[in-house]
Amino acid sequence: TKTPVTLLGLGSMGGALARAWLAAGHPLTVWNRTPARTTPLLAEGARAADSAAAAVAANPLVVLCLLDDDSVAEALDGADLTGRDLVNLTTSTPAQARARAEWARERGARYLDGGIMAVPPMVGDPGSGAYVFYSGSDDVFQRHRETLAVPAATTYVGTDPGFAALHDVALLSAMYGMFAGAAHAFALIRREDIDPVAFAPLLADWLVAMAPAVHQTARQLSSGDYTQGVVSPLAMQVAGTPTFLSTAEQQGVSPELLAPYFALMRRRLAEGGGAEDLTGVVDLLVR
Ligand code: NDP
Repeated sequence: TKTPVTLLGLGSMGGALARAWLAAGHPLTVWNRTPARTTPLLAEGARAADSAAAAVAANPLVVLCLLDDDSVAEALDGADLTGRDLVNLTTSTPAQARARAEWARERGARYLDGGIMAVPPMVGDPGSGAYVFYSGSDDVFQRHRETLAVPAATTYVGTDPGFAALHDVALLSAMYGMFAGAAHAFALIRREDIDPVAFAPLLADWLVAMAPAVHQTARQLSSGDYTQGVVSPLAMQVAGTPTFLSTAEQQGVSPELLAPYFALMRRRLAEGGGAEDLTGVVDLLVR
């Protein structure tokens, strides 16, 4: 028999989670602030609870997928959490996750936080690459591992309840840096007779080819030797930056995305990091 699940929140992500558990044959009790959202799931076999408190009472495993941390407090206000295993997939900051874990502990619940590395259409599709970072109670993670693996693969990153959120935000922050670089690249070709659709595969392949550079950065951060295995020393890279800035100017493109990174590279060079990789920028960011 499959573990019964209570799920609070049937937005686009919650709805996708619900369907994945139902499709896998897990008994599912759902609650949503706006009750109309539960209706389509009832036909698929879900049970609707009249209140969040009733949904929590229905099963020991309670999964939350609400808008933000405030909605979690609001939804669970007055619910008896004693003996529940709370799995909170609501996006939050590390500090919010830690405070929520303490809040759950005070109410007699065990707490596992999650950060979803997927968009709703990827959920329930094992080939999609979707996964969820989990951190907090390793007991809850071990006990419900198979159930949690139904909607998306699982990656447990430690007992600190803030670590799932931290990993989630770290990866997404890197993604925004990548999107920023891609925006600048598209801007450079925007006014020319270059088809962005023909340009895109070149850009995507280049980003993929460069992505493994993070392993060298990690090894250098780990060893403390930022000159280890350097191929393109900082001094050479800084000397090349005028080419990038002049090209932007010639193409009528604002340097506002690129310039802050170049400024950090120059600062590190001025501090004597000329023979290093770009790794020293990490230390300039850490206050
Ligand atoms: P939606 O906006 O589609 O749904 C939000 C859900 O939260 C709804 O069920 C809504 O209820 C509920 N809600 C909002 N405020 C409250 C409140 N005060 N009390 C109770 N319930 C409330 O969001 P998603 O489903 O897309 O996202 C849910 C979580 O998943 C978020 O934390 C999001 O960051 C995360 N996530 C989403 C991804 C995505 O691509 N969609 C990707 C990765 C993570 P109601 O129907 O009544 O409005």
